[in-house]
Amino acid sequence: MSIFDQIRKKDHEQVVFCSSKDSNLRAIIGIHDTTLGPALGGTRMWMYAAEEDALIDVLRLSRGMTYKAAVAGLNLGGGKAVIIGDPNKDKNESMFRAFGRFVDGLAGRYITAEDVGTSVADMEYVRMETKYVTGIDKALGGSGDPSPFTAYGVYVGMKAAMKELTGSDSLAGKKVAVQGAGHVAKYVCDHLAKDGAKIYVTDIYEEKAKAIIADTKAEYVHPDKIYDVDADVFCPCALGAILNDETIPRMKFKIIAGGANNQLADENKHGKILLDKGIIYAPDYAINAGGLINVANELEGYHPERAMKQAGQIYDTIRTVLAIAKKERIPTHEASNKLAEERINSIGKIRQIYSGKSEFSGRFGEIAI
Ligand code: NAD
Repeated sequence: MSIFDQIRKKDHEQVVFCSSKDSNLRAIIGIHDTTLGPALGGTRMWMYAAEEDALIDVLRLSRGMTYKAAVAGLNLGGGKAVIIGDPNKDKNESMFRAFGRFVDGLAGRYITAEDVGTSVADMEYVRMETKYVTGIDKALGGSGDPSPFTAYGVYVGMKAAMKELTGSDSLAGKKVAVQGAGHVAKYVCDHLAKDGAKIYVTDIYEEKAKAIIADTKAEYVHPDKIYDVDADVFCPCALGAILNDETIPRMKFKIIAGGANNQLADENKHGKILLDKGIIYAPDYAINAGGLINVANELEGYHPERAMKQAGQIYDTIRTVLAIAKKERIPTHEASNKLAEERINSIGKIRQIYSGKSEFSGRFGEIAI
């Protein structure tokens, strides 16, 4: 497929190829849709086998950000960047500063952040060249670790799913199987323990799970056995693609509500299987948007309480998504996509009233979109 065909396939607005021979930078910035606001999304550094793989990834990820921001009720569009290279070997200061120059050249149409393979330290170099970077260190006026916000959104989203299932959103006495014992899982488990839920937790590094067990009286489960636990809720907080042909038939869970990205191995196929099995699936990008909500708050002058309150609105979002899915008898991820598209279309129409002139006022001043 030609490059333009690939870009047009999912209606991306702009793709920027960035190269700096001196710093060995090869990066692609994807801007999917800026109807709601500037395109925000992290910069991923990865050893792509081919340049085409990097393009496919940036197109897929930037489109995902459009939906995530839209369903989270943010005035942001979808963007993402990829840097081709080995994050353990190929990084240097000039690479990230060169990348920052390219981001700056987009004059606020794209705002970057850290992602897989990049760190807060890398973003500090980017920030030396552009103000269009977010999710930076607290010491530099940023919001720091987004995990508590992501976790809070997952917790309230899980409650919303429980409300759908039982008519009550209480998690007291409910059994929850948590996959992964990392940043997000730790905070989720704190909420669950406070509510009196029974937690089963796993991690490929057992010692990470031990910290959670000590704080929450959770029970340890071997990583291979987590899908078989007889629990009410499965809370994936580790890897993507864990809802697949092999795992779903083993599940006795009634709800899936977790922080991991890209949980469905095949969106259409496995979303439909979950619907047919009667498992309530809280779509990943809707329930794990707390971190994005948090960094979006940085753009408007950061108040952690405000960000947490907004993350709490994920409860209503999941309720709405589940209601649409039920009414239309469609998988929940489709319902979530619908909600996002409706918001983009309706706000897009409103913005035409002023003949394309709209303002985003935030930390960066006024950015015409
Ligand atoms: P993390 O790296 O802190 O934790 C992930 C944990 O999963 C690690 O402890 C790792 O050892 C464990 N793990 C990996 N493979 C496993 C397996 N097969 N079985 C069991 N455990 C396994 O990451 P995190 O920041 O907690 O993020 C967790 C997930 O949530 C990721 O998919 C991430 O993309 C997604 N997410 C995170 C945030 C955030 O704010 N941190 C926001 C949105 C989405």
